[in-house]
Amino acid sequence: MTQPGTSLSKPVDDPCSEDRTAPRDLLTSCVHCGLCLEVCPTWQLSGDENNSPRGRLRLWREEAEERIPQDPWTARYTEECVGCLACESACPANVPYGEILEQQRADHVSKGRTRINPLLRLAAALAARPRLFSAVTVPLRILRRLGFSQHRNLFPGQPSILQSTADYARTLMQKHQPSGPLAALQVGCLMESAFREINFATVRVLIENNFRVIVPEQQECCGAVQSHLGLPAPQSSANECSLARSNPDVIVTNSSGCGLALQHSLNNEVPVRDVIDLLSDVAPHQRTPQHPEAHVYIDLPCHLVHGQRVQGFSENVLNATGLPWEYAPQAADCCGSGGVYHLQQPQNATRILQEKSRFLNEAKGQPPILATSNHVCMMQWYSAGKNGLVHRPFLVKHLIQLLDPGPDFSVQKQALQPAPRPVSLQ
Ligand code: SF4
Ligand code: SF4
Repeated sequence: MTQPGTSLSKPVDDPCSEDRTAPRDLLTSCVHCGLCLEVCPTWQLSGDENNSPRGRLRLWREEAEERIPQDPWTARYTEECVGCLACESACPANVPYGEILEQQRADHVSKGRTRINPLLRLAAALAARPRLFSAVTVPLRILRRLGFSQHRNLFPGQPSILQSTADYARTLMQKHQPSGPLAALQVGCLMESAFREINFATVRVLIENNFRVIVPEQQECCGAVQSHLGLPAPQSSANECSLARSNPDVIVTNSSGCGLALQHSLNNEVPVRDVIDLLSDVAPHQRTPQHPEAHVYIDLPCHLVHGQRVQGFSENVLNATGLPWEYAPQAADCCGSGGVYHLQQPQNATRILQEKSRFLNEAKGQPPILATSNHVCMMQWYSAGKNGLVHRPFLVKHLIQLLDPGPDFSVQKQALQPAPRPVSLQ
């Protein structure tokens, strides 16, 4: 189903078609009701109308109609938008804010009104060349594996240095021979290069739950990185083609931003599901927790809640962690990560996280675990400890890691269950 306000037109007969319908002029769709202001993190921080969804839409329209000049001060308000899409969920007029923002960012970059950090531009270029990206990030994986990384965003983990997720999945498929639905895993560019231990855990959990997992080769960036930066989407549709043409029952992602980008580019011709949401259809094994005194706080990525419109996870899945859990306070609010926002606007991102992360100082559990389903949100949450917002030990995990059976497991050949209702946030 196409989500209101998020459609990107695309012919429906060929998922790999190069043709893209030109974007519509949507700047007149806002009725100025202001119901989006309260949910907007940059309006909450600044109280500045120009730093709200309604204000930005007004500025963009005034510029488009040449009533105000295209000045640097107006460009700043575009750059300060996190892109969290909370305003889309709040909007009664279904203003497709995310689509408009994408167009505006691209326009600002093409006109030189917004400058992109050269390192981020390089990362976006590398994201389109996954083998090269994987090769140049070998030192990063070594540092993380040895526990030597001190970077404020690089949460600890033990990624494989050389074995790819595709190779790992092939090995486990031969060993376990599951017989259920065919799941094509989108491995992601940053996830596969820096945090592939999360991909490995995803493969194990899926196979344990009797999914046949394929990891198509030739996967490129889904376009999310380029979209966040205002750069043109990759011309090649190799990524969409390799995923869709492997003829899967479902395309699975473990990153909400990638999942949303794929839902748009594939126009939902093949179901694209977040892995934690997908596991709601089965009854995953209960795990014996590694930290029995821990308490899990679940945070929901914006692009899952406001983009993919997944409002929460099922009790089945969350209970399977074997740990007491609850949603983090303000779980559906933005943590400030915003794709690359925490790298481009680190001060704003930290201010957004400050209020949201405060509860961890008094949280239950030894240790408290902040669990989410997006590696970029994990990077942002991890920084809360490094920059002093949280001054007690806590762990940051992907939810799939709390469901991980580890290297030794057997396949559960159970039937798929009807999807239970997600547990409400309130
Ligand atoms: S995307 Fe988020 S930060 Fe940007 S205007 Fe909407 S609510 Fe505000
Ligand atoms: S809620 Fe929608 S219509 Fe109302 S001001 Fe915000 S963007 Fe405009």
